[in-house]
Amino acid sequence: SETIGQLFDQTVEIFPNKEAIYDVRRNRRYTYSEWNDRVNALINALAAEGVRKGDRVSTFLFNNEELATTFFACAKIGAVFNPINFRLQAEEVGFILDDARPKVVIFEEALAPVVASVEKRFPETAFWYIDEDVPEYAASYQEKTDAAPSFYPQEEITADDLYAIMYTSGTTGRPKGVMHLHKDMVSQSRILIEAFKYSEEDIGLITAPMFHCAELHCAFLPRVQKGAKNVILHQFNAKKVLELIEQEQISIFFAAPTMWNMLLQENLSNYQLDSLINGLYGAAPMAPNLVLACEEKLGVSLKQAYGMTEMGPAVTLLLAEDQIRKAGSAGKVCPEHELIIVRPNEEGPSEPSDVLSAGETGEILVKGPCMMSGYFERKEASEKALYKGWYHSGDIGYLDEEGYLYVKDRVDDMIISGGENVYPREVEDTLFGHEGVLDCAVIGQPDSHWGEKVIAFVVRKNPALTEDELEDWCKNSDTLANYKRPRNYIFCEELPRNASGKVQKFMLRKRVEDVSI
Ligand code: AMP
Ligand code: MG
Repeated sequence: SETIGQLFDQTVEIFPNKEAIYDVRRNRRYTYSEWNDRVNALINALAAEGVRKGDRVSTFLFNNEELATTFFACAKIGAVFNPINFRLQAEEVGFILDDARPKVVIFEEALAPVVASVEKRFPETAFWYIDEDVPEYAASYQEKTDAAPSFYPQEEITADDLYAIMYTSGTTGRPKGVMHLHKDMVSQSRILIEAFKYSEEDIGLITAPMFHCAELHCAFLPRVQKGAKNVILHQFNAKKVLELIEQEQISIFFAAPTMWNMLLQENLSNYQLDSLINGLYGAAPMAPNLVLACEEKLGVSLKQAYGMTEMGPAVTLLLAEDQIRKAGSAGKVCPEHELIIVRPNEEGPSEPSDVLSAGETGEILVKGPCMMSGYFERKEASEKALYKGWYHSGDIGYLDEEGYLYVKDRVDDMIISGGENVYPREVEDTLFGHEGVLDCAVIGQPDSHWGEKVIAFVVRKNPALTEDELEDWCKNSDTLANYKRPRNYIFCEELPRNASGKVQKFMLRKRVEDVSI
């Protein structure tokens, strides 16, 4: 079996003069051979710093060439890649650095204030700054990579070596470091290349966060393996994405549902979008009518991936031809993977032998070649998550007769109102069907009579939209039973979402806590 470094070297050998990367913010372009020189310069700089096989190297970066370069430099020398979410604040970054104990942290100007407030706690760690001309950080990334001696440390790296520690988005609780081996990602890349038919002709746009595995493993890595071009946008921006599709002739990209939704709000007739053929979405549920709107207005044929960091991440895929016939589904289990629905267990991890039949709702359990080896230095949490060899997703859903998965919600987000289960996602999908709703999220609010009552947070396209109109819409829909209808609507400007596009429901719950009962 191969390593990620070998995948990269093969591409460089086959396509040395093909454009590999365009870093939009700095307006720099690299062919595969030029990029390989950057990777090797960084390897030498890391080696000069004392980084050896197994040592962690963290990035605290927006999307850019340096993040892409660090990813492959780590893979080639067997260092463990640890990309940190650029949205995190000092306390959270400090927590991760304390946990992962990296030898080197590579960061950028916009994030310097966060680094400045934690770096003193880590005297053993080198902090490298990628932007030039900043006196406080004399030993910058640029100087290190330019001045690095030209030797290439030869330590044998195998497919069974640790490749990365990725901290999960942590919509609840403290983040845990998901450990993946080289072979996990080599399998992931192969499975996605086959499923999504990636090719060297693709011109991919990176706009979703690269520190997250959805972008890194489902889009970026397979495209590099195929020798495709990658246009790297610092951070999502709807107008900039549309401009780049036109300017760079983008053919494919991954975006979270909320990003696709933001693209639809732009004046699309101002752009020439014919090059765009394929789109991917995932990381959070997408209302079926939004998928259709993307097809109609952006001319893009969308495919969905459902999964989680722990699984590499893709677990099921919904291909373009099934988008309408199986609207609302997350698709079929990926090749080489297994997925079962089991009876949830209140006391501990659910039993893989308690398998439910088609149509019955329960916890989603999965296994496959890209499954994590565990959480970094969290023995108990790892054993619980991987109980009896299955990853316990904490998601609830069901399989239909044809084996298509329907993800209903997170176990923790389910609302129990008057003894009935309400899955917020069903309510959200219904609200999204109303043309005046730009964004929405549904939670349960503690209630002395009902146990919990259904509350909807709604971002309106137009402030004229009223609670009564939404109430009528839900009443007249044939998708929502009476008890599932929101009892209150809270209009807001924006929903709290994390960088991968998931609504942070714990923040919404906090907002209604004080006024409850
Ligand atoms: P993360 O570890 O950050 O990738 O988050 C994984 C979680 O995101 C899953 O357990 C799901 O709850 C959610 N998720 C990911 N993909 C989808 C999808 N296509 N549809 C619905 N929820 C999703
Ligand atoms: Mg997770």
